[in-house]
Amino acid sequence: MRVSKLFGKTQREIPAEADTISHRLLLRAGMVYQVAAGVYSYLPLAWRSLKKIENIIRDEMDKAGGQELMMPALQPLELWQESGRAVAFGKGLFTLSDRRDRKLALGPTHEEVATKLAGHNVQSYRDLPLMLYHIQTKFRDEPRPRAGLIRVREFTMKDLYSFDTDEEGLDRSYNKMLQAYKNIYARCGLPALLVEADSGAIGGKDSHEFMVVTETGEDEIIHCPKCQYTANADKAQSNKERVENGKPLPLEKVSTPGMATIEEVSGFLKVPQSHTLKAVFYIADGELVFVVIRGDLEVNEVKLNNALNCTELRMATEAEVIEAGIVAGAASPVGIKDIKVVADDSITSGTNFVGGANKPETHLKNINYPRDFKTDIITDIARARAGDKCPRCGEKLTSSRGIEVGHIFKLGTFLSEKLDAFFIDADGASHPIVMGSYGIGLGRLLAAAIEQNHDDKGIIWPLAIAPYHIYLCPLYREDSKASDVAEKLYAELEAEGLEVLFDDRKESPGVKFNDADLLGIPFRLTVSPRTLKTNSVEIKKRPDKESELLPLEGVVKRLKELIRHAE
Ligand SMILES: [Zn+2]
Repeated sequence: MRVSKLFGKTQREIPAEADTISHRLLLRAGMVYQVAAGVYSYLPLAWRSLKKIENIIRDEMDKAGGQELMMPALQPLELWQESGRAVAFGKGLFTLSDRRDRKLALGPTHEEVATKLAGHNVQSYRDLPLMLYHIQTKFRDEPRPRAGLIRVREFTMKDLYSFDTDEEGLDRSYNKMLQAYKNIYARCGLPALLVEADSGAIGGKDSHEFMVVTETGEDEIIHCPKCQYTANADKAQSNKERVENGKPLPLEKVSTPGMATIEEVSGFLKVPQSHTLKAVFYIADGELVFVVIRGDLEVNEVKLNNALNCTELRMATEAEVIEAGIVAGAASPVGIKDIKVVADDSITSGTNFVGGANKPETHLKNINYPRDFKTDIITDIARARAGDKCPRCGEKLTSSRGIEVGHIFKLGTFLSEKLDAFFIDADGASHPIVMGSYGIGLGRLLAAAIEQNHDDKGIIWPLAIAPYHIYLCPLYREDSKASDVAEKLYAELEAEGLEVLFDDRKESPGVKFNDADLLGIPFRLTVSPRTLKTNSVEIKKRPDKESELLPLEGVVKRLKELIRHAE
């Protein structure tokens, strides 16, 4: 491809709207164009990389036994109501009506359609196991599209669905996909970490994410350096150590003038924050919820959302708290009535806690659960943090940031039961098909590759997903011979099937080299009057500082070897 003809212009300015490195570099390299918030056109260079990622994914899915097919983006909304997930997806589901006022959804994922399809085709256990996949456009009405291709409203995803007769079969399919995913990231040149994850709106019991670790990642990963426990902070647990505070004593009211926060109260009464109970208020699907947690811990809203099984969760405003008759700054689960109380299990980790008294500027000492108050739900709703103890081995946990580049789920049978996907076993009995779901977003993987592979000059593509392999760069302002040699070299490289971006523009060396670095093509090949004096060309690998001279003769063969070796 000749740079003079390439559609998409590089730009020197850093676009103001771009908030992450990959977004900035994709725009500066002229690879994507924003059509609307979270909706992008892929220009030729980005599209080539995306197709390479797609081919690697397809190859690994086929090797693992997947069968490719195509399911529609347009889906009847009834399917989502039947599965119950229209509620779980909430406003994230794009819906529309057709001319006969029938409700439709633009698929954010395809479990419903795939389950129906399997249910229609699978009769007996002999038809199983089965793995079906497609690579299709998905739609999600994100509340806050951001970070270029990382959080978008329209995107290409590979999703595979596994269908088995029992849990052991599901485990086998799940492990096959786990390995296939590891192969995909390795082949893309993108080290990814496997982490335990929350299943979210997809549902099911177990799920894992693959994370690319980068400083700017929007997810927090909790990790144990000793036993390698690794989980998304949404899901991560920590060992809540017991706080010993003696035998339960009788409740005692104390005056706490002007003290409202946990810090103020614990300082004033000279007790550690871990000996206090904190009250936090949320609105869950319109209902006020009283959340109580040990004073030194924080509420994890994903866990709270799961515990409440609600669609919309937000913190209550001060006005809403007061309207519910709660004494802000001294709220207590002791004596509270007609309000749902959700507690973190840390309230059982000790005795004689300090908490509010539901009376202004007054607190209670020696609160003991369950002696002094009841809860509607008690479970783990605490956020695991760096420095907390590992739930498995007790070592100190660490945290890092990452971008999710794949998510796999053990769905079990909840969808096949609801959507009527059953099979007949060897004895003629009917059972729901046991399912798994395995997704990977292509554009996000492309962006994550840039987040992980760049420097201050631009992108550094891993070879396997680089739009081109070679940036051929003749410098011939003062001499036309370099141009003739480069033209000949370009033809030879192309004839050998090498992917070449040929910078045939009459630009200065500085402009050409800057663009070569920005576009991140793995090998830069320079032909100039200087190199031709010794009948050679200059080769430079994108991440390297140094270049070397190669004899012009045999350079095509040498490049073929280098590229094959790097792949
Ligand atoms: Zn551990």
